[in-house]
Amino acid sequence: MPFTSNRDFKEHPRLITEAKGVYLKDHHGQTHIDASSGLFCNPLGHSRKEITNAVTKQLEQLDYVQPFQQGFGGSFTLAGKIAKHTPGNLNRIFFTLCGSSAVETAIKIIIAYHKARGQGQRFRFVGRERAYHGMNIGATSVGGMINNVKTFASVLMPGVVHMRHTHLPDHKFIKGQPTTGAEMAEDLERICMNFGSENIAACIVEPVAGSTGTLVPPKGYLNRLREICDKHGIILIFDEVITGWGRMGSAFASQEFGVIPDVITMAKATTNGVVPMGAVAVKEEIYDAVMDASPKGAVELFHGYTYSGIPVAVAAALAVQDIFEKENIFKRSKEMSPYFLEGLFSLNDLGAVDNIRGYGMMGGIDMKLKVKPGRAGFECFKSCYDVGVNFKATGDCLIIAPPLICEKKHIDEIIEKLRTGISNYNKK
Ligand code: PLP
Repeated sequence: MPFTSNRDFKEHPRLITEAKGVYLKDHHGQTHIDASSGLFCNPLGHSRKEITNAVTKQLEQLDYVQPFQQGFGGSFTLAGKIAKHTPGNLNRIFFTLCGSSAVETAIKIIIAYHKARGQGQRFRFVGRERAYHGMNIGATSVGGMINNVKTFASVLMPGVVHMRHTHLPDHKFIKGQPTTGAEMAEDLERICMNFGSENIAACIVEPVAGSTGTLVPPKGYLNRLREICDKHGIILIFDEVITGWGRMGSAFASQEFGVIPDVITMAKATTNGVVPMGAVAVKEEIYDAVMDASPKGAVELFHGYTYSGIPVAVAAALAVQDIFEKENIFKRSKEMSPYFLEGLFSLNDLGAVDNIRGYGMMGGIDMKLKVKPGRAGFECFKSCYDVGVNFKATGDCLIIAPPLICEKKHIDEIIEKLRTGISNYNKK
């Protein structure tokens, strides 16, 4: 099973059998509130009729079409809708299968872009410690969560260098952006000096590092990365697979933090999680350079997937776009955020809690270590599961990201159940 303690699971299976709105039901019939939007996938809640109907209708009309050298109209409509929300002129969209393949695609597009401009020597990618970008070789290589990387070191991409992460010891119980730590961006400048900026293709960061436990960027940090990339002709990628589509209170974290990258990757909420799909948005200059470097009639980018922008995923994503608009989801997220963060930070009096962070509709709760690293998070996850609150734990951090359609009563229920679950865990 993926990222699962298989042996523990065999002894204590946890099977989810139904999902509706913000609630899940398990095989014992117990109800759980979904406190991490199903791995950040379901901001609109579960079993949305509008999405189910759109998918069903699409399957009846056109179930699949091979996407090479021919098109499917819906994917162009969807690209246009996505481009209305992406910042600046990041309006060229390539559809992928998931977040990992979006990152891998971004890596390839950037290499093709530099080659097209006669800068084929730019082969290095700069990632960051504690980053998560997915699990294929490209995404694992630029990622920086040590357990995901160390077993596979022998097969990772060459030339990847990592900046330090931005989580400093004085970042304790900070709601929103820390005011210290922007200088960590200078790591990129240092890497340019040590490895030669002319060899660096791109720098990739999650604007808010999600899977490692909501590391919010220090004020000024992302702006400084932008400046350094501009100075050296390095492409800046924001991996917005989690932060995209309203999680931070704006369509993308890029707008929220006022920094426009050259490339954005997205997935998860793009289809509200119901059909796997990812996408890469690149600025026009990147697209144009790759197009112009190829003779007319030739395939310009030798890359693509059997399931790139398939009708059923597009139908789900179009229905999601309609709901984003009709229900003003990004504004709703921004308005609910202070209430959510206040609730989350109210857990700071619990003895087992070491630290809390949060921004928008996402937060991380670090648990104090009891035995060895990694145990507290998992044990606490199980304790909270037992009292009916469902979320993702990574290492010793509980990651809380409620659906963006949550009402205050749902936030209250999440916080109350977290309090009980964490307290029960602490008694064990
Ligand atoms: N990028 C980020 C920032 C992610 O958080 C994730 C998954 O959590 C991925 C990429 C990989 O996405 P997927 O699991 O859809 O391949």
